Amino acid sequence: MISKLIINGKLLENGKLMERNILIENHYIRDIIDGTVTVDEIIDAKGNIILPGLIDSHVHFREPGLTHKEDFFTGSCAAAAGGITTIIDMPNTKPATTTIELLNQKRELAKKSIVNYGFHFGCTKENIEEIKKAEDIASVKVYMNDTTGSLMVDDEAILEKIFKESKRLAVHAENEKVQLALDLFNKTRDKKKKLYFCHITSKEDLKTIKKQKTKHVFIETCPHYLFLTQEDAEKLPGKGVVKPCLKTKEDQDALWEAINKGLIDTIATDHAPHLIEEKNSANPPSGFPGCETMLPLLLDAYNKNRISLEKIQELCSENPAKIFNLRQKGKISLGYDADLVIIDINKEKEVKNEELFTQCKWSPFNGKVLKGWPIMAIVRGNIIFDNGKINDIKAKELKYEDRTVETPNMLPEEVQEEVEENEQNSKSIG
Ligand SMILES: [Zn+2]
Repeated sequence: MISKLIINGKLLENGKLMERNILIENHYIRDIIDGTVTVDEIIDAKGNIILPGLIDSHVHFREPGLTHKEDFFTGSCAAAAGGITTIIDMPNTKPATTTIELLNQKRELAKKSIVNYGFHFGCTKENIEEIKKAEDIASVKVYMNDTTGSLMVDDEAILEKIFKESKRLAVHAENEKVQLALDLFNKTRDKKKKLYFCHITSKEDLKTIKKQKTKHVFIETCPHYLFLTQEDAEKLPGKGVVKPCLKTKEDQDALWEAINKGLIDTIATDHAPHLIEEKNSANPPSGFPGCETMLPLLLDAYNKNRISLEKIQELCSENPAKIFNLRQKGKISLGYDADLVIIDINKEKEVKNEELFTQCKWSPFNGKVLKGWPIMAIVRGNIIFDNGKINDIKAKELKYEDRTVETPNMLPEEVQEEVEENEQNSKSIG
């Protein structure tokens, strides 16, 4: 057994930062104490804040098939540098992750990751039998709108079958497809089924989901929608092309309001790296890298009084763990995995393309000075990122718990009331 003690750290307890020491045994949090005990190794947090490591439930690490853009090692280094200790990878690789065999191949490739990893499974018009067999996955990802690759499904009868056979669904749905997703979900729902809307960007889509938000329906948004608008698009590589596209200031304000009201459940990066040459070509592909800038952007927003640390912890650690049934993740608590990020809340630093760990080596936030940066990332008790340096210690695949739906415990009263009303209505319907 290896024991470690993190001293001089500040943890959030009931909304307050408290000085506490974290005792780690093997890979787990064994205790949270005030004093010290004899251990094999002391980690000095030097008065900085410690949060649970971030769980990024939406990344594209491009392996297999597109490893000139990213792979599980480079992507996981970028995650580590951004304080993300767990990622869930999307299926639109080459080939796409749509069969058990391909999923198992991806499991092997992901072993080079230094952060914990899991997978969303892809669906096509033909792979319903594979979906039925898929185990230990975060969700089945359904592309209802056009996307990168060829995974879009628009046949409603097939969609209904996919919804029926999937325990958790992560959907790319915009505009009228949002309502369709809700309808299909309500038609096929059961006690454990969950619907997760990826990258919601607009005031309208928020409004549509809010009307039918229940304890089974979740909303994700991404940093680029919170910190960039369509006005920035022209200045960015590839004219800021991303799916869904960057929206107006009004949409952005609606997202911030929804975050602070508790309507949005998670923030994930949608880390979708492409080389700068590809972005600057005549036909730029969609997407940005995001793993290294999500936490600094949010900490900078915290320093500007736009969001609380509790909210960051909820949206980026606790809620993704609850929504995707991740075992022992997302909290600094006894028995949980020792996945932690130490942040220097006063550190001011410029985002610089050349300093990034992502293989594509650029960021839409290049040149931006942000206040508040992760300085250390710990995965299962191992320091994998330490003040700019990566330690190549391999992580593990996620484990899932089979449990009934649990609300991310965060809905404020007015939203809670609406949710309960929606729950009642949907029960009386079916
Ligand atoms: Zn995506």
